[in-house]
Amino acid sequence: METDLAGRSSKECKTGGLSCRSNINSNTMSNVVDTKLYDLLGVSPSATENELKKAYRKLAKEYHPDKNPNAGDKFKEISFAYDVLTNPEKKELYDRYGEQGLREGGGGGPGMDDIFSHIFGGGLFGFMGGQSSRSRNGGRRRGEDMVHPLKVSLEDLYNGKTTKLQLSKNVLCSTCNGQGGKTGAVQKCTACRGRGMRIMIRQLAPGMVQQMQSVCTDCNGEGEVISEKDRCKKCEGKKVVKEVKILEVHVDKGMKHGQKITFGGEADQAPGVEPGDIVLVLQEKEHETYRRDGNDLFMNHKIGLVEALCGFQFMLKHLDGRQIVVKYPAGKVIEPGSVRMVRGEGMPQYRNPFEKGDLYIKFDVQFPDNNWISPEKLGELEDMLPSRSEPPIISGDTEEVDLQDYDVSQGSSSGNRREAYNDSSDEEGSHHGSGVQCAHQ
Ligand SMILES: [Zn+2]
Ligand SMILES: [Zn+2]
Repeated sequence: METDLAGRSSKECKTGGLSCRSNINSNTMSNVVDTKLYDLLGVSPSATENELKKAYRKLAKEYHPDKNPNAGDKFKEISFAYDVLTNPEKKELYDRYGEQGLREGGGGGPGMDDIFSHIFGGGLFGFMGGQSSRSRNGGRRRGEDMVHPLKVSLEDLYNGKTTKLQLSKNVLCSTCNGQGGKTGAVQKCTACRGRGMRIMIRQLAPGMVQQMQSVCTDCNGEGEVISEKDRCKKCEGKKVVKEVKILEVHVDKGMKHGQKITFGGEADQAPGVEPGDIVLVLQEKEHETYRRDGNDLFMNHKIGLVEALCGFQFMLKHLDGRQIVVKYPAGKVIEPGSVRMVRGEGMPQYRNPFEKGDLYIKFDVQFPDNNWISPEKLGELEDMLPSRSEPPIISGDTEEVDLQDYDVSQGSSSGNRREAYNDSSDEEGSHHGSGVQCAHQ
């Protein structure tokens, strides 16, 4: 089976329209869009410079690393807040545009990203996906994982399978070494100051401000521009080119629905970015005979009344093609709807395939039609069957009624009753992958 994986990169989400983030603050007193820095110092946005100073001194004493080695980055954070809020220019930017205002306005210097993500949770670039998320060790940024479903049959999961997947992905352009053009040809975009994003502030009502971020149109969100003549011919300045890649996927025996198969670092490449993984998520297809729950298999089987009473055997084709003869001895009875088990004929265990689950068979007993036997023979049959329970003693004032045939599909005079009937029978239906099965009863 060959499945084509569309090369979907995180870049697509970035350019997929206007990304917008709204900060709505109903604090009409101060008209600020964000109060985090004020909260850090424990003051209100209307605090005077004196109040800020006092608050800072008090907290600084408490959290100074010399005095409180366990305070973590708290001291850095309050110092940052104090620095911003006592600088009229920075305070103005922060009050009006929040965190983004500070970033745009150069509030952060080198190493400031750490502080930003500490205080603001690093959420600012969250919507841009993996492109801008930094790996935890502070090293190279890590690209987004490419997650794809992989449909597999129950047979594949029983027997194991190797399949080839063809996918198209971005790789660094070899002609320009992922630079997009000659060395030095790349210029920072002036329109967005290299950020790739532009910000717009809209006042919805007094005290309510909406912040909208949109992809910079000058550089298409790249943050840089390359002049036509210096642009790499092969990748047209995109730094990456599409490449078709074949992956060999091993589906192991006993793998389950939802299980992931990961190809480390095989996702889209981008300059300065550590490629993410390709993650395949197994999707078990429904099987016409078997239903799976964990390592056990479940199936339904129809037998006649004679089999239910007099024993039987039947053939079963297993998931690996084996023909299995299932036997039930004469003299043992199968009640309608009851379940029997075949040990060791379930699914193989993942990474331990010689150990297998069990196979549960639920029996549907087909009764004979009306008038299947002549009245004389019926007498003989009754003699052979277990005797009736004691007949009830009928005395006093009674009324006799008849039992009538009733066709479920035709409905009855009472619509409600029909619905109730259907509901309860639906519950017995096999819901794929559901937890507890009725067959356990
Ligand atoms: Zn190139
Ligand atoms: Zn730009």
